[in-house]
Amino acid sequence: MSTQPLVIGKFSLGMGDRFAHEAEAQLAACLAARKLGVEIVPVWNKSNREHNIIGSEPTSTRAAADAAVKALGWTAPYFLDADHIGLKTVDRFVGVSDFFTIDVADFIAQPADPAAVKAFVDRHPELVGTLTLAGIDRPFTTTRADVERTAAKFLLAVQEAGKVYRHIVSVKGVGRFVPEISMDETDSPQTPPELLVILAAIADEGVPIQTIAPKFTGRFNKGVDYVGDLAQFEREFNDDLCVIAHAVKRYGLPANLKLSVHSGSDKFSIYPAIRRALAKHGAGVHVKTAGTTWLEEVIGLAEAGGAGLALAKEIYAEALAHMDELCQPYATVIDIDRSKLPAAAVVNAWTSEQFVGALRHDQQNPLYNAHIRQLIHVGFKVAAKMGPRYLEQLKTCRESCARNVTGNLLERHIRPLFL
Ligand SMILES: [Zn+2]
Repeated sequence: MSTQPLVIGKFSLGMGDRFAHEAEAQLAACLAARKLGVEIVPVWNKSNREHNIIGSEPTSTRAAADAAVKALGWTAPYFLDADHIGLKTVDRFVGVSDFFTIDVADFIAQPADPAAVKAFVDRHPELVGTLTLAGIDRPFTTTRADVERTAAKFLLAVQEAGKVYRHIVSVKGVGRFVPEISMDETDSPQTPPELLVILAAIADEGVPIQTIAPKFTGRFNKGVDYVGDLAQFEREFNDDLCVIAHAVKRYGLPANLKLSVHSGSDKFSIYPAIRRALAKHGAGVHVKTAGTTWLEEVIGLAEAGGAGLALAKEIYAEALAHMDELCQPYATVIDIDRSKLPAAAVVNAWTSEQFVGALRHDQQNPLYNAHIRQLIHVGFKVAAKMGPRYLEQLKTCRESCARNVTGNLLERHIRPLFL
């Protein structure tokens, strides 16, 4: 075994592959980017929740990724992300994953031990007062009470991340995986001054995170564009990059520490801001996508026509019929207006062009329907229930599915962000 610690490169793309049939098509997008001059590290991510809904095991994600890497002759690094795990769920992933998204959102705002909070603030007088950080023209002004409040809110979550991290280390060893801490699945966004306190606490806890996923301002709904204040997002994203650069120097966190943007697919309106910020600060980023690939599979089926289109229509009809059940686990990250969802009978009469036009994320196309897109996004359980019938159709429509998967990642994601 190599003694070199695993380090993730500057730009990385998290890719979800719910039915483990698209790894090659996804990797083809990274390969194309490489030929165009940008190194994108592929990271296959699948959460415990997705594995449970589909009835799959992390070993299948590993097998699909390894097979794609071999088939396409990919020689650069790639990773397998145990996405959104905690102490209760990590063991299923620990053998096959080498990237761990330690999700501690549920521990935010659970009160930390007051003595630990006091000790933290005592240890960090530098966090109190006027903080001038390189790259941020408006200094942060914080009182001891502010830092205490922030520490009280996040300290328990950071301590929990430490427990999970040490558990993974006990199995895999130090440096044998990339640790990320995620706090995105919570109610309120973390401000840049809060991020600084969180990073100081993570460094104290001894977790050498290489990526951090805060919750950003605005809505990051599944599979559709960003909704929020673009100027505020850009300002805070830039500030976060400066906070990270500062924390790396001040607290000795890994030099490659970068932001991880969860639900990062399809957020076309903020990609120019992210791109500008990365260039300005010379920073890296991890952009996590997942369901966008499953949507491209359905688009590929519909585009193929015949039985593929019929199956795509069946998926829509079933998703519509079980909408409440399907939406429930994703309630906080979707915004579906029922009145904008056509009846199954209407969709059943659609041509390939109409179905593809409604689903493909092209906001210029008058046929595009963000409500259908979100419903299908959370509707993958329908395809999981179809089992072999769905997988067989994927094979039959291999060409159109793969072409849409690759094209979506390359043209709508990698190109605007990195090329
Ligand atoms: Zn997430």
